Amino acid sequence: QLVLVSGASGFVGTAVTLAYLEAGYRVRGTVRSQDKADAWAKKHANAFKDGQLEWAIVKDIAAPGAFDEAIKGVDIVAHTASPFHFDVKDNEKDMLIPALEGTRQCLRAAQKEPSVKRVVLTTSFAAVMDFDRLGPDTTFSHKDWNPATYETAKKSDNPSYVYCASKKIAEEEAWRIAKEPETKWSLSTVAPPMVFGPPLQVINSLDSINTSSGAVWAVVDSKEVPPASFPVGTDSRDIAKLHVLASTTDEGKDQRFLAIAFHYDNNQVAEIARSFPELKDRVPGPSDGAAAQPHFKTDSSLVEKTFAGWKWTSFEQSTKDTLAEILKVEKQL
Ligand code: NDP
Repeated sequence: QLVLVSGASGFVGTAVTLAYLEAGYRVRGTVRSQDKADAWAKKHANAFKDGQLEWAIVKDIAAPGAFDEAIKGVDIVAHTASPFHFDVKDNEKDMLIPALEGTRQCLRAAQKEPSVKRVVLTTSFAAVMDFDRLGPDTTFSHKDWNPATYETAKKSDNPSYVYCASKKIAEEEAWRIAKEPETKWSLSTVAPPMVFGPPLQVINSLDSINTSSGAVWAVVDSKEVPPASFPVGTDSRDIAKLHVLASTTDEGKDQRFLAIAFHYDNNQVAEIARSFPELKDRVPGPSDGAAAQPHFKTDSSLVEKTFAGWKWTSFEQSTKDTLAEILKVEKQL
C-alpha cells in the first residue's frame, strides 16, 4: 500500500515517514524541493528498501491543485504539512491560509482519487485547548475544541493564538470534507502537544530547528531556565506510531486522538540536560519562572482504550533522546 506523507521533510513528517517505512508501507513524501528530498534520502538511506520511497514536489500546499499529481494511486494520506512557528507577520498569509487551504487542497485531491481509503491529519492540542480555560478545573479530552475562529485569529496580535486557531480551523475543515457524501475514505486525526523526541529531519542549523525541539534545547546556554510555553508533551515516535495505527487499523477509523503522554516543566528538562557531561556547564540551575504552574488536566485515554497494549514513551526517555540527538547534530554542524 502506498502512503502519501505531506511535509515529509519536517520534524513530525520525518518521524511519520520513518514509521510507515518501518511498518513496511511504500511512502511518497511531499517536499518543497528535490534538494530536500535528496538530503532526506541520504540521511536515512538505511531506513528504506529499493523502491519503497519516492517523492513528489509540492512547493506550496495551499496552491490550487497542489496535490493533484502527488495523490495519484495513493491508498493512505497522512497530511502533516502546516506551519508551526511563532514568527507571524501576516496572520492570514503566514499561518491561516497555509493551514486551512493546505488541508483543503490535500483532502479535496484525496476526495477525487478513488484509490484513497484512509486519511490521517496531524492536528494539535492547539485545536483542542481554550486559552480562557487553562486553569486546574479544566480537563481537556478529544471532545474539546478551541473556540477560536478564522475571524478572531485574523485580528489577533498573539502569534500563539493565531497558530492554535490555524490548527482548529484546519481540523474543522477536514471533518467537514470527510462528512460530505462524495468522500469515500475515513478520516482520523492525531492531536499532539509539544512533540519531544529525536529530531531526525535534515537540520542545516540549530537556529532553524523545528519549534518544539528548539523549545527543549532552549534550556541549554540559557541565562535562566525559561518557562515551557506549553507544559504537555509526547514523544515523536509515539506520535508517528499513532498516525500509522489511526490510518491502517479498523479501531483507528473515524477517531480524534488527543495524544498527551506527560505534563512537565522546564526545570525538569534542565535537570535531565545537566545529567549529560557535555551539557552540565551549559545549563543553569532551576529557576522560579520555569517551575510548574497550576494548570489544566488532560485525558488521552481514548488512545489506550483503542489500541490494546499501548505504552507512552516516558518524559525522561523522550527528553534524553531529544537532547542526545541535538547534541550530536550540533557536533556535526
Ligand atoms: P516543521 O516546521 O518541522 O514541519 C512543517 C512541515 O510543513 C515542513 O515539512 C514544511 O516544509 C511543511 N510546510 C509548511 N508550510 C508549507 C507550505 N506552505 N507549503 C509546503 N510545505 C509546507 O514542524 P513540525 O514537524 O513540528 O510540524 C508538523 C505538523 O505537526 C504540523 O501540522 C504541526 O501543526 C503539527 N504539530 C506539531 C507539534 C510539535 O510540537 N512539533 C505539536 C502539535 C502539532 P519546509 O520544511 O520546506 O518548510
